[in-house]
Amino acid sequence: MSIIKISSKPFDVHHKDIKALDIADKLSVDPSAVEAASRDFGHIAKAIPLAVLQPSTPKEIAALIKLSYYNSVPFGIAAKGHGHSLRGQAMANNGVVIDMKSMNKCRNGTGIRVSTDGLYADVGGEQLWIEVLNKTLEHGLAPVSWTDYLYLTVGGTLSNAGISGQTFRYGPQISNVLEMDVITGKADFMTCSPKMNSELFYAVLGGLGQFGIITRARIPLQPASLRVKWVRVLYSDFSSFTRDQVLLISRNGRKDQNTLDYLEGSLLMDQGSPNNWRSSFFPHSDHPKIISLITKHRIMYCLEVVKHYDDQTKNTVDKVMKQILQGLSYMPGFMFQKDVRYGEFLNRVRAGELKLESQGLWEVPHPWLNLFIPKSQISDFNNGVFRGIVLERNITTGPVLVYPMNRHKQVLWDDRMSAVTPGEEIFYAVGFLHSSGFNDWEAFEDQNMEIMKFCNRAGIVVKQYLPHYSTKDEWVHHFGSKWKIFQLRKHQFDPRMLLSPGQRIFNNN
Ligand SMILES: Cc1cc2nc3c(=O)[nH]c(=O)nc-3n(C[C@H](O)[C@H](O)[C@H](O)COP(=O)(O)OP(=O)(O)OC[C@H]3O[C@@H](n4cnc5c(N)ncnc54)[C@H](O)[C@@H]3O)c2cc1C
Repeated sequence: MSIIKISSKPFDVHHKDIKALDIADKLSVDPSAVEAASRDFGHIAKAIPLAVLQPSTPKEIAALIKLSYYNSVPFGIAAKGHGHSLRGQAMANNGVVIDMKSMNKCRNGTGIRVSTDGLYADVGGEQLWIEVLNKTLEHGLAPVSWTDYLYLTVGGTLSNAGISGQTFRYGPQISNVLEMDVITGKADFMTCSPKMNSELFYAVLGGLGQFGIITRARIPLQPASLRVKWVRVLYSDFSSFTRDQVLLISRNGRKDQNTLDYLEGSLLMDQGSPNNWRSSFFPHSDHPKIISLITKHRIMYCLEVVKHYDDQTKNTVDKVMKQILQGLSYMPGFMFQKDVRYGEFLNRVRAGELKLESQGLWEVPHPWLNLFIPKSQISDFNNGVFRGIVLERNITTGPVLVYPMNRHKQVLWDDRMSAVTPGEEIFYAVGFLHSSGFNDWEAFEDQNMEIMKFCNRAGIVVKQYLPHYSTKDEWVHHFGSKWKIFQLRKHQFDPRMLLSPGQRIFNNN
């Protein structure tokens, strides 16, 4: 029997094949490492692990999993990517957190490899999407599906879905993976794809870290554009705003030149500046006229679209954008545009982050609420939530996003994946990206709860994105018809319920 001592608790491993001490020097109990592993971007949840594994190789991750798997009392293990979870999803109370970024340090820059034919990149699960962007751009290539913010890891976003303004056209990031290497909760190394170990492949995509640790993902690439035309238009009327959004995403044939490359939307409310940390867009000289509209209507709706271009299309892109915007019902005189480098557009949130960080306003509580709402009920949501709860409470600080995406008859959101969406062909992502003080986040949490209650009462079939629940019944309800398979897959790939305990699906500590 090997005994490895972490903190005051020994792990007694009854297995002759496990040399626990192999990873002893990779397990840190350093107070600063433990403290960092017990917090996340949300700054709401806290769970203290016994130790932090700082692995150099996937083998060391597997050794840790074996250690727990064969321990008489197994301990929880959470991969921590960039720790940008909001509710402790990458924490492991009294368990071990794997600091995935330490893999990156040891790969000596080989964590992202572009294939010689340029069709895909093999990317370590610990890599940040900004690193993927920078590396692939060196080859004039890029993935097609993104998140708004790129300082998130590949393993972290593939465990959720990875959505942004490209999702209506290409599907979420989980629909843009060709193959993965995964270490399961039984410490098995498995390569999986739609053809090989497909059950694991679909389980892991949107699987909230429950089935295995992603150590490599193969991401398809396309030629990258050089620059983008980036346009925002304003609406006072919600139904015109959503009608135009839906019209635009319906033109999504890959060869149709009127197809947009990105579409989102957001609310503008009385919060000082019409700009926010997600992106600074409106020219200063236009702030007074935008603010007076907001004062008059209380909420303005902002549609945001982007069309990529390169040397071949630079002379026609303006005409194409004009055609795209023709016939839309935005308020005349409220069209704003920018022309920026492609990489600058994708990395647009970073500048806001750095600004808030310098003001000490980034590392604060983030009581976010992210929802998927069927298109048929988005108008009820506007009336009851945006124009009801939000205006009445008047506490919203931070961006509120509202944009639609297609399922395209299951092609873009394959039902075999673990990710959960409302059943309709078109559904909306709504994100309340609140920042609060350390003493007043409960007021936002109250508002979030009121929104959920309202949806229940109004019969709105809402699904949480980046979900967090505290009871099993809520999880069963969340997964709906997918619960049975989710549970079966858990028994198949992580029967001792070791992985990502901070999601609190199978572990309620
Ligand atoms: C500022 C900001 C902007 C965001 N914008 C978007 C957006 O536009 N679109 C969007 O879809 N999401 C967005 N998110 C949410 C984000 O995608 C998720 O919170 C994501 O999980 C964060 O990635 P991470 O690397 O920090 O993951 P972590 O918080 O470290 O981990 C998240 C979960 O994944 C598990 N996990 C981590 N790595 C692995 C791995 N290699 N293998 C298996 N499981 C793993 C963890 O155990 C945990 O359960 C945003 C979050 C923030 C803070």
